[in-house]
Formats: sequence, structure tokens, C-alpha cells
Amino acid sequence: MSFLSAALGRIKPSASIVANQRARELAAQGRDVIALSSGEPDFDTPDHIKDAAAAAMAAGKTKYTPVAGIPELRKAIRAKFQRENGLDYGLDQIIVGTGGKQVIANALLATVNPGDEVIIPAPFWVSYPEIVALCGGTSVIAPTTASDAFRLTAETLETLITSKTKWLILNSPSNPSGAAYGRDELKSLTDVLERHPHVWVLTDDMYEHLIYGDQPFYTPAQIAPALYERTLTVNGVSKAYAMTGWRIGYAGGPRQLVKAMDTIQGQFTSGACSIAQWAAVAALDGPQDYLAGRRQAFEARRDLVVGMLNQSKGLHCLVPEGAFYVFPSCEKLFGLKTAAGQEISNDEEFAAELLDAEAVAVVHGAAYGSPGHFRISYAASTEQLEEACKRIQRFCNSLS
Ligand code: PLP
Repeated sequence: MSFLSAALGRIKPSASIVANQRARELAAQGRDVIALSSGEPDFDTPDHIKDAAAAAMAAGKTKYTPVAGIPELRKAIRAKFQRENGLDYGLDQIIVGTGGKQVIANALLATVNPGDEVIIPAPFWVSYPEIVALCGGTSVIAPTTASDAFRLTAETLETLITSKTKWLILNSPSNPSGAAYGRDELKSLTDVLERHPHVWVLTDDMYEHLIYGDQPFYTPAQIAPALYERTLTVNGVSKAYAMTGWRIGYAGGPRQLVKAMDTIQGQFTSGACSIAQWAAVAALDGPQDYLAGRRQAFEARRDLVVGMLNQSKGLHCLVPEGAFYVFPSCEKLFGLKTAAGQEISNDEEFAAELLDAEAVAVVHGAAYGSPGHFRISYAASTEQLEEACKRIQRFCNSLS
């Protein structure tokens, strides 16, 4: 009998963490690696946020906090939901966790029983199906296509809902496709959900602030008030405020669910880091004007990368509306061989050979449930992105 649990056997390590690790190993061997595999902004955390953390430490705010988070942070989150999303949550409807990842895990651990189904549109953030599997639930992967700009359609959703469906997980803008739902597209999905009162929505709004052009951001409970009582609105400071290492995520939702998540968290990690919580108060209550500049920088990088990839032999890349990822197709290159005679027959081999030949680290699309693609994170400097895209072009051209 194995010492390791059956639950562990159901999950696998995160593909982006594995790709980053491989890139670090190559760099340690002296290769000039450009890692476009990591999901974090390259900007630093703003100084006023760091200062708030230092002040909290100096003031001795270094003790355990309430499991759901310090009241000051929950108030800042309540104000954020009102200000940016038109959503009213009481303080007892808000919970802070150690990153959005923990918040999502708490929600699923608190609700998913073996046999329960969770609908996840592909391409998806790698952790959703793994957390569902850890809970003993079943992920029902909803396919999307490039012709629908990687957005779930109402028709597909309708066909996948069964009596066992517990949750639909939505993520807009999406990691890895960057797709963001417009009001009408999201409404067509919430209309379906309104007809199926047993299905709850977990909306992962982590990339809310990274949406480009004039496109406004929408979240399900805002546009479909009937769903408010069965929607968990998840967000966090990691991506918006360049605070990935501080580990603060949060959610607003129905009291009963938030209480259940509090119980789970109380037995795992308790309250999130006290100092990071004070930093998050400064992020949410402090100035927001610098976000526009960062957003514009990301948008310019997106345009650069999409333009250069679309000039590459065999690649096709949509222009994503948000987040900091592009998700090009590499299918047309399958069947070709590298200069060393290695045939590329899938996206995993494409990513591996690209790393080997040109030292550019990307993550293969099958890891996100969409084979035939790969993900590039453009949270890197313009110089690095330009150089990486040149290397990708050279690699694609070298295939014959
Ligand atoms: N949701 C999505 C879609 C993400 O891409 C990430 C991070 O990569 C998270 C949630 C988790 O973010 P964190 O745990 O840093 O708050």
C-alpha cells in the first residue's frame, strides 16, 4: 500500500511551474534563456504599498488575524466591489485568503463531493481541474474554439449542464487565452444559468484590471442580479497591483458559502499574512491612477508580440482582449522536422524543441486543455519580447 494518498495521485504539478523550473535549470547551465512561461507582472509592487507593509510591521501588526481577514481589508474589499463592480457585499460575505488560489480551493473543498461535476471552459487555468480532482469531483471540460475567440457559448454550456453540475467556473480575462467576455456574451451565459438554479458560478476576476482598448469589464453577479445568491466573485491583488509574492486573494459571495470557506481555512492556514493584508489595504484604498500606465504598457507589448508571431511561419495568434498572455496555434507546424531531425508532432514537443533550440520558455497548450497551442506571457520587457519573438520566428523558419 502506498504511503501517499489517493488524492495526491489524482493531481499533477502545475505545467507553468514545471516550465519555469526547466528554464531556470537551463539558465544555470549558462544558456541565455528568455522565460515567457511565468504568470506574473514584471513591474514592482508600488512604493506606497511596500510602505504600508513596513508601517504595519513597525506598529506590531504581526499577530494572528481573524480567519476571514482584518476588518480594515474586508472594508477596503467591500468598497472595491461597490466602486468597480456595483456589487454590495456585507463584511461577513467577504473572505481573504493566501492568494486567489487558496480562495478557489476553499470554495471547492467546501462544496464539492465525489461525483459532483464542475464545468470548466478550455483553455483553462491549470489549477481548476486539479483542485476539483483533489476534492474528488469531476471536471467537465467545455471546449471553445478560436473562431469563438476562446469564449464559451450558451449552446455549449446548455448541453453540458446535468443534475450533477455544481459549479461553472468562469475566468475573464482568461489565463491562458486572454479572452474577455463582453456584456452580451456574458449575459447569454447567465441567461442559461438562470434556467438551472442548482448551478453556482465561481467567477475568477483576477485579471479584471488588465483589459485593453475601451472594453469594459463585467462580472456575472453584476449583470445578472438573480445569480447573486449563487455566485462567488473571486479576485485578488496579485496581478492588478504586481503583488504575486504577497499572497493575498479574496472573494465575495453568499454568507453560507463564505462561512463554510472560513471553516476550511480556519483548519488549514487561518488568516493570511498580517503584513500582506495591510499592504493590500493600501493597494485597494490607495491611488489607482498608475494602473492605467501599466495597462497601456501591457497593451503595447501585446500588440508587439501578436504582430511578430503572426509574421512567423506556421503560427496564428488572435489578439486577446486582456490579461498578459497570448495563445497562438502552432498546429500548422506539426509534421515538420527540426534542423536536428526531430519531428514536431504536438504542442508539447514544439515547446520542448523551442526551448532546446532557441532557449525561449513557453508553456504548451495541452496543459490548459487546448492542444495545438502554446502560451506566452508577455509580462517581460519590450527588448526581451522582441528578442524572444525573433528567436521563435527563426525556430519556426528552421522547421522543414
Ligand atoms: N486565477 C488565475 C486565472 C490565475 O492566473 C492565477 C495566478 O496565476 C490565480 C487565479 C491565482 O492568483 P494568486 O493565488 O496569486 O492570487
